[in-house]
Amino acid sequence: MYRHKQPVGCKFLCPHCEKVWLPVLFLNNPDGSKAAPDDPKDPNNNSGNRWSRSGLTWDDLTLSPEINASEAGHWRGSVVDGECITAA
Ligand SMILES: [Zn+2]
Repeated sequence: MYRHKQPVGCKFLCPHCEKVWLPVLFLNNPDGSKAAPDDPKDPNNNSGNRWSRSGLTWDDLTLSPEINASEAGHWRGSVVDGECITAA
């Protein structure tokens, strides 16, 4: 996901159902800009939640804390070094 052509987040296919895209907005954008502002009208806004990011590509992406879409019946787990690790 981009703002002013700079990445401010990412979306990935839910590893659980492979049908919905899970949006993740970064707390720390790669270009050093502020995290995307809260926008309750935007379903991709993560309800104001933001994730700490390290890595600049899908292969080295690490997100913290874990992603928990389980209340909506979707995936819960962590992204570490580009790998989706499903929570036990
Ligand atoms: Zn799912």
